[in-house]
Parts: sequence; structure tokens; C-alpha cells
Amino acid sequence: MFEKIKTILFAQKSIEGVLFWGVLFFVTLAAILSALFTATEEMDSYATYFSILCVLFFIIIGIFAKISHRYSICYFALCLATNVVLLPLLFFFCGGFNSGMVIYCLSGIFIASLHNRRKSQVFLVLISLIVFELAFALAYLHPELISSVSYKVTVTDIMVSFMLMTVTIYAVSTYLLHVYQSERDKREQLIQKLEFISKHDPLTGIYNRRHFIKRLGEHIWPNRVGYFILMYDIDNFKAINDNYGHPFGDMILCDIANLAKSFTNNFRDEMAIRYGGDEFIQVFQAENMDSALARANTLRESIAKLTFIKHPEISITVSGGIVECADDKFTHQNKMLSFVDGLLFLAKQHGRNQVIARP
Ligand code: GH3
Ligand code: MG
Repeated sequence: MFEKIKTILFAQKSIEGVLFWGVLFFVTLAAILSALFTATEEMDSYATYFSILCVLFFIIIGIFAKISHRYSICYFALCLATNVVLLPLLFFFCGGFNSGMVIYCLSGIFIASLHNRRKSQVFLVLISLIVFELAFALAYLHPELISSVSYKVTVTDIMVSFMLMTVTIYAVSTYLLHVYQSERDKREQLIQKLEFISKHDPLTGIYNRRHFIKRLGEHIWPNRVGYFILMYDIDNFKAINDNYGHPFGDMILCDIANLAKSFTNNFRDEMAIRYGGDEFIQVFQAENMDSALARANTLRESIAKLTFIKHPEISITVSGGIVECADDKFTHQNKMLSFVDGLLFLAKQHGRNQVIARP
């Protein structure tokens, strides 16, 4: 039976659905136990009939919820009927203060406080509190309204209701905690995914222009000593696309990106970036321009050595410019980027397949 209940609960798509069916199960079980208990303990037969009526009412609400899936309204009706009608009447039928009814009333407030809409929740809690307090006051003023019960019945009823309340609090708290944790995990995963997407180029997987500009402004430029920026662009790439197709062009971009990535020393805060189209940026850290330029040329030569299984006859060359971030002539990072772009243009003009460090 518990397996079936678990299956029904976990099949629910919404937290409202799970709470509704869970609470409906709990209150129906409580009403059935109450019917059995009042019948076997030979209490007022009204108490037994009323408990059976409660069970029927819960079954009707369950059928309505199953058909309509309007769990918010069903939950509201369930709480209202339970706290305003059923529990106060059961309080008088089942022995008043000499029973576990006060514990059931408290569980009614607990269930009402789980309604997912703030206004309904406040309304349910307040109305339940007022009705219960009035019932308690009435029981004090007119004790003759309460069915008399033996001490044994009182103790048994308190033990049963206490146990049911414990199970309910435990089950609901565990479930809500589980929902909260899994939602938090999902949100964290989503944030990580979005963060990755916002920083990386979707085709090649290396950093994109947006992330480079952000990193440049926040970290590289303020600590520019030792940083070098190489900007390079594939030579005659349009012709490759035209002659061999766009997908093959994409493959070349990915191969260059992978190679560029293998040239970065992450421990030294270096970066490989697809700046846009067939243009890349490599952030190097080096002692001086000579060693930075040597590394840039090694990267350029490695790109020229790339081979492609589909078209072994093709060799790719790139042209670029390189600048030292700490160069005095750059008063702003944008000036530096325009300058390196100018050097790249110069490399193209000077016959391509080269990296230029000075105009
Ligand atoms: P140059 O030597 O002067 O750079 O000549 P080029 O033909 O490479 O000219 P340019 O750099 O201006 O052309 C860039 C080409 O890159 C144009 C465009 O078709 C291609 N391209 C840009 N983005 C992509 C992409 O994501 N995939 C592919 N396959 N091609 C791209
Ligand atoms: Mg190009």
C-alpha cells in the first residue's frame, strides 16, 4: 500500500499535487481511525457516523481533484472543511479536552499553513485559529456538550493522534526539504550552464569576445605588466568556405581553437579567445616582447602545420599583430585593441602568414 501511495505522490508534477494527495491521505486515515476507534470504544454513535461522513467527504474531494487537477482550490476546500466544520464537531463528539482532538486541531493549522497562496494561507490559518478557540471556549462554558470518555480512551486517543501528528510533520518536512534541495541543485546547475554559455564560443568552445572584454577590463588591463595580446585572423578563409563548404570551414575553426587552447598556460592566466568570425586573440604572459613574439610565431607555425584528413592538400595560414599591454602609448584598453587590429591589417598587407609586433 505504501509503495502505491509513493507511486501516486511521486507521479505528481507539482508540489501542490504532492501536498494535496499527501494531506488527503493523512486526513482520510485519521477519519477512518476515528470511525473505528469511536465504534470499538462504544462512544456516542454520532461520532462514528460523523467520522464516516468525513471519510466520504475526503473521497469526494479526491475524485474532484483527480478530474480537475485544481489542487490549489481542492487544498483550500480540504483545509476549510477540515478545520471549520469537521475538527470542531469531532472535538465535541470525541471527548473534547479529554482526547487527542487538540493535537488534531494543531495539525489542522499546520496543514493550512502549507497552502501555496499567501492570502489563502493567512485566511485559512486565521479562520482555523478563531474557530478552534471558539470551540475550546464553548467546551469550557458548556461541558455538557462534550461526550464523556474513559481515561483509557483519552490516553489511547492522545497516543494515536500524537503518533499521526509526528508522522505528518516528519513526512511533510522531509518532503519540503527534499524539494528545496533539489530545486537549489537544479538552479545551481542552470546558473553554471548559463555562465558557461555566456563566456564561451558555441562553435569552438574557447572563450568568446564578451568574456575577453570583461576579463581585460577587470583583470588584465589593471595588472597589465607582463601581458601581451596577439590578434590573428585566418588568411583567405572565405575562399576555403567557398571551395570546401561551410562545415569544413567550421572544422578548421575548431582545430585552430583547440591548438590555441593548448598554447595557453592557465596557471599564468593566459587565454585563447575566438574574437569573432575567423579572428582569434591569444593572451600571453611573457618576460618581454621577444619571447611573446616567439610564442606567437610558434602558434602561427603550428597552425600552418595542421593537416585535415578530408583535404590533405590544404594548409592554413594566419596573420596577426601583437602588442604589449603595458606599452606607454596605450592610454586605454580600447586604444590598444585598435592598435593591434591595425598591426593585423598590416600583416595582411605585407603578404599574410606573419605576426607583426611594430608598425
Ligand atoms: P583575409 O586573408 O583578408 O582575412 O581573407 P578572408 O577571406 O579570411 O577574409 P575575412 O577574414 O574578411 O573573411 C572572414 C570569413 O570567415 C567570412 C566568413 O564566411 C567566414 N566565417 C565567419 N564566421 C564563420 C563560421 O562560423 N564558420 C565558417 N565556416 N566561416 C565563417
Ligand atoms: Mg580572414
